[in-house]
Amino acid sequence: MSSRPPLRSLDDALDDLLGRAAALGATEEVATFDADGRVLAEDLVSALQVPPHDNSSMDGYAVRLAEIADEGVPLPVSQRIAAGQPAQPLQPGTAARIFTGAPVPAGADAIVMQEDTELADGVVRILRVPDAGQWIRRSGEDVTRGAVVLRQGQRLGPAACGLAAGIGRDRVRVARRPRVALFSTGDELVMPGTVPPDQMRPGAIYNSNRFFLRRLLARCGCEVTDLGIVPDRREATVEAMRGAAVDHDLILTSGGVSVGEEDHVKPAVQALGSLDLWQIAMKPGKPFAHGRIGDAHFIGLPGNPVSSFVTFLLLVRPFLLRLQGAQRVLPAPLLLPAHFDWPRPDRRREFLRVARNAQGGLDLFANQSSGVLTSTVWADGLLDNPPGQAIAHGDLVRFLPFAELDA
Ligand code: AMP
Ligand code: MG
Repeated sequence: MSSRPPLRSLDDALDDLLGRAAALGATEEVATFDADGRVLAEDLVSALQVPPHDNSSMDGYAVRLAEIADEGVPLPVSQRIAAGQPAQPLQPGTAARIFTGAPVPAGADAIVMQEDTELADGVVRILRVPDAGQWIRRSGEDVTRGAVVLRQGQRLGPAACGLAAGIGRDRVRVARRPRVALFSTGDELVMPGTVPPDQMRPGAIYNSNRFFLRRLLARCGCEVTDLGIVPDRREATVEAMRGAAVDHDLILTSGGVSVGEEDHVKPAVQALGSLDLWQIAMKPGKPFAHGRIGDAHFIGLPGNPVSSFVTFLLLVRPFLLRLQGAQRVLPAPLLLPAHFDWPRPDRRREFLRVARNAQGGLDLFANQSSGVLTSTVWADGLLDNPPGQAIAHGDLVRFLPFAELDA
């Protein structure tokens, strides 16, 4: 490891990485109940109108407008239509009792809500003259027959699963889950549960990255093989990598990608395939590696917990979503006022840990060090600050909510 690779911008690194993320191709059919978080591998076309018929959006009476010249008109009630029941054509000179969701009878052109009526001896008096089409939900106002309701490449959330079900789909075709092998590196790492806090040897730290990386991977649709802490021996590392490359789409490691560092992951990847080390002009973050071992991708994240977390959200997650064919891989930023000053910005693009306050502004966590994971838990998102840009109280800044970055 000699000279430092040149700094590159995050946008450039992301474009490069996404360019390497050829879609997995393979798809599977899953129950719509299980499709939340998966990426659609087909267009969903509706074979029916939703709603299927004009129906009432109120409990009340279906009437003919032309028969209600003025307030107080009495109309005999000629039928009763509940949701799910068929309607007979509306007899002239009558009203139909109707309930929310029930089909509007042919001939009726408005619904009068029951609060605007008086009923006595089977005759309803209409106390308010209705507007044309009032309280009628039109057939197809949600979905028309033949419409594409969800497109290939769309990531499904709970509402989209409901919409798919609404056009009759109990199963949908989605991209298969990326298979990811996860390694942690570093001789200082100890697994919680194996050594109690008061018996940790000097220099030892608990492995926190493994815990959030595993959950972040699962949340973006991956099947994770957690291979633990990679043993600090060259041969063992090469063997572990070789094995993982056979049946995984991605080998993800944390730690050991800083320039010049003594570690076994980089030489192992180089021995088995190819490796590009990147220095990204972002803070936290900076060191990042992408490589190939056979058909498997390799990505090396920095070891500092906040760097690892942020580079996962801004680079690895988009990469994994793109492997699944997702079109949209990053949220659009919100513009919100900073409720703090940041007079000495970094030359690199910074991702500050901030939280929304009750006044609609952003507060800054006091310690922005890349080792301070507390900042990431306190915060509810990242402030994306351009290189060298000072922030004054009240300035509008770009905010990326964690809720959209880690879902
Ligand atoms: P590295 O990128 O390996 O130079 O690590 C940078 C810093 O992150 C060092 O202080 C490491 O001890 C720390 N670190 C690396 N891996 C982890 C991990 N899995 N959990 C917590 N801290 C880590
Ligand atoms: Mg290390």
